[in-house]
Amino acid sequence: MCGIVGYVGRRDASPILVEGLQRLEYRGYDSAGVAVVNDGSIRVHKAKGRVSDLLAGLPKRFGGTIGIGHTRWATHGVPNEPNAHPHLDAEGRIAIVHNGIIENFKEIRGKLQSEGVAFSSDTDSEVLAHLISRSKAEGLVEKVREALLSVEGTYGICVVDRDTPDTLVAARNGSPIVIGIGEKENFIASDVAALVRHTQQVVYLDDGEIAIVKANEFQTLGLDLSERTKRSQKVDWDVGTYDKGAHDHYLRKEILEQPEAVTRALSGRLDTRFSTSHLGGVELDPKEILRIKRIQVLACGSGYYAGLAGARLIESLSRIPSSAEPASEFRYRNPIVDPDTLYIAVSQSGETLDTLRAVQEVKRKGGMVTGIVNVVGSSIARECGSGIYLHAGPEVSVASTKAFTSTIVAFALLGLHLGRVRDLSPSDGARIINALSSLPDKITETLQTEEQVADLAKKYLDSTSAFFIGRVNGFPIACEGAQKLKEISYVHAEAYPASELKHGPLALVCPEFVSVVLFPNDDLYDKNVSAMEEIKARNGPVISVGHNPELAAISDDFVRVPSSEPELDSILINIPLQLFAYHSALIRGVDIDQPRNLAKSVTVE
Ligand code: GLU
Repeated sequence: MCGIVGYVGRRDASPILVEGLQRLEYRGYDSAGVAVVNDGSIRVHKAKGRVSDLLAGLPKRFGGTIGIGHTRWATHGVPNEPNAHPHLDAEGRIAIVHNGIIENFKEIRGKLQSEGVAFSSDTDSEVLAHLISRSKAEGLVEKVREALLSVEGTYGICVVDRDTPDTLVAARNGSPIVIGIGEKENFIASDVAALVRHTQQVVYLDDGEIAIVKANEFQTLGLDLSERTKRSQKVDWDVGTYDKGAHDHYLRKEILEQPEAVTRALSGRLDTRFSTSHLGGVELDPKEILRIKRIQVLACGSGYYAGLAGARLIESLSRIPSSAEPASEFRYRNPIVDPDTLYIAVSQSGETLDTLRAVQEVKRKGGMVTGIVNVVGSSIARECGSGIYLHAGPEVSVASTKAFTSTIVAFALLGLHLGRVRDLSPSDGARIINALSSLPDKITETLQTEEQVADLAKKYLDSTSAFFIGRVNGFPIACEGAQKLKEISYVHAEAYPASELKHGPLALVCPEFVSVVLFPNDDLYDKNVSAMEEIKARNGPVISVGHNPELAAISDDFVRVPSSEPELDSILINIPLQLFAYHSALIRGVDIDQPRNLAKSVTVE
């Protein structure tokens, strides 16, 4: 969601800014813009639509060796050129880009207007440019600070001032900002993806910090302008890991990468000697594990569905009562934070604002929280301080696939670890280890269903809606299957527990409405067959996904996946659902990697 880039150095800034914005396109946006300081003035160029639209109209000689750029995901004001960032103050002295939401912008805007300030956009962000410019404080950083002290809400910002053309000022509160450190040049971004072509050495700002960035140096301060010394770190993703290669879409690339992603998630973490797992980042000693009375997963979107699957997995392996809740609900309901509960925050990007706020709420109330995160050094990873990294590699497509799978694998590792401290037997531990070890090969085998699934997407092209039906271990995957179909192909889809069908949703079943029924290899198989029969009896077409070959004879279409252990089967069953969503989107000709209205990491509320 929304992106920031900034550059200061010796090179021409605008191509670097535009290339950085292209690297952030995957996050979803609706307009883009750049501003450079050149010959004592600020030049701005903006466009509605894609970065390619911005580039097409960018004057050849834009000049300037310092500048800022933005991809906007509108929260206040329609996506159009005036509302695109950067925004200038009235005199054109200051330009800002902003990610996040200024919650008290109306009051500030009203006050500034009453003082005669004319606004050029409908955004909440523009107030920042005017506030900074009108501040009576001495230098740029002091002016930025003063402006920030008067706003409420969330921000990642980057500022240039035509009167200090060697300095970028950036700040964060709730929206990520990272400094990229180069040779005689430095960068700002909201996501390392925009930086890795130039440098892998980065410094992450924390909430309440301001950075002053020049070509040869940078300084980080608190909002009280006290020095905050920060160490740079190396990001382990390089520019190659962001490339689409020969694939038409990142989504398909990421679906096909799952065997390697799972291999990396498992690497060095399985302990066959004690039939357990090693999770270096989870700092819980056995005594603490024995004290845990409950586990609660907090996450949003697909992370939440992975969390539902994970809660079931952990509960079955460790027998610790476990549940999952959308982080956004949790944070707003004044939750009771129990000291004996282990909270687990899940986020691919590690920047999901609702999840970050939920983590902060748990910590504020003295709770114990750990993370399952893909992006190393991200806000949630740092806020949790402990956790499991997925090592899935960058996930660029907005719809999550490999991170979803790797998250469930991480839950399995955690469940194994907790279970083996509690009452999971060594033989059951070994059974899970064997199943985990063979997952990458089984995922590879499952990916062979692609051609068949692509045919099914064609066959059911006219289906107006879809049900995804699962039970217990199958239900979280049903939720994810429905979510994937909705988000990338725009086909309406709902997930229901199999036993809930007869309590209402069965009324919708008809020949034009496909149902995908999931059959994990567990002892609920016969019950799932009955649910499928209920649909068939009402002339609803059924695609079954599972292991038992008899399903071929009793459903309209059957996608066979290899079997694993019952706890892990759903990981395999999910893969044809990912492929079904992908091929359903492909034949509809929609933008698969950047579905309408959606953004990759949801850094606003
Ligand atoms: N709230 C700002 C706007 O609507 C920034 C949105 C963003 O984060 O891209 O312009």
